[in-house]
Amino acid sequence: MENDWTKVLDFPGYRVYRREIDEKKKHVTLWIRRKRGNRSFRCPACGRKVEGIHEAIERAARDLPCFGYTATVIVELYRLRCPDCGVKTEQLPQLPGKAPYTKRFEDEVGKA
Ligand SMILES: [Zn+2]
Repeated sequence: MENDWTKVLDFPGYRVYRREIDEKKKHVTLWIRRKRGNRSFRCPACGRKVEGIHEAIERAARDLPCFGYTATVIVELYRLRCPDCGVKTEQLPQLPGKAPYTKRFEDEVGKA
């Protein structure tokens, strides 16, 4: 079941580990985190390989609706401790900028 959500979600390197479906509000919430093996980190500021993890945080992003349901993805992100830059939050191409939207959501809204 969780694997199926991971497949349709299409967030490379990430898997769905929890989900909630609100039938009244027609809303799906998916929690995702890195797959095992997807654990090499680079500092988003300088690109250096980083071993140290400061903490894990959750970031919620509105995603495209699916099957008539609105959708939110909650992504586990790491705050990395770079020896040169200090603590930096990793960045995903699917979550550009600071706005609480996924890239594909922003692309779709931009088209409208
Ligand atoms: Zn750095």
